[in-house]
Amino acid sequence: MLNIALFGPPGSGKGTQSKYLIEKYNLAYISTGDLLRAELAAGSDLGKQVKAVMDAGNLVSDELIVQILEKKIKSLENVKGILFDGFPRNLVQAYILTGLFSKLNTELTCMISLEVSEDELMGRMLKRAEIEGRSDDKPETIRNRFKQYREKTQPVEGFYEEIGKCYKVDGLGTIDEIFDRICEVIDRL
Ligand code: ADP
Repeated sequence: MLNIALFGPPGSGKGTQSKYLIEKYNLAYISTGDLLRAELAAGSDLGKQVKAVMDAGNLVSDELIVQILEKKIKSLENVKGILFDGFPRNLVQAYILTGLFSKLNTELTCMISLEVSEDELMGRMLKRAEIEGRSDDKPETIRNRFKQYREKTQPVEGFYEEIGKCYKVDGLGTIDEIFDRICEVIDRL
């Protein structure tokens, strides 16, 4: 299997690149953010529990993340690999992912980290807020999401660096340029 975790701060282009990657490599796509937004839209119990947390830009509890992940993974059949977007987002989740893969008798192939400066990110996020109107794209919430990213998510990169699975990719350029850089890493492996 080809299992990828796409990593990067909010607004680094993970969602956009994911769409191209799953198509090219025929991968199942798991975005914890999308799964949570689907729960919100469906008005499920879980959705109700996470609304305030997401609107504030904080991380949803690991227990709830595990619940939605297990539900999603059970629904997958005959997959060639999985692309994770927005997960793992802290060290506990990185351990959870290791366990998940071992249950599936496979392992993470690589973690690809999109590198973009915070100034560029803030600009992109504010622009996206105008277009998509996501309820967590307000300036205060965006600032908190960056803070959560720096404090809780950034250490995940070190975790994968230590086991030699972290590949950094320059996230500045056109969508096609960045896509080519990511594919170069994957095709080398
Ligand atoms: P972005 O990468 O732009 O911040 P996401 O769609 O990945 O957007 O996440 C949106 C929100 O969903 C996060 O701010 C957080 O509240 C919640 N979330 C998504 N994935 C996770 C996760 N793995 N663990 C905890 N919370 C998560």
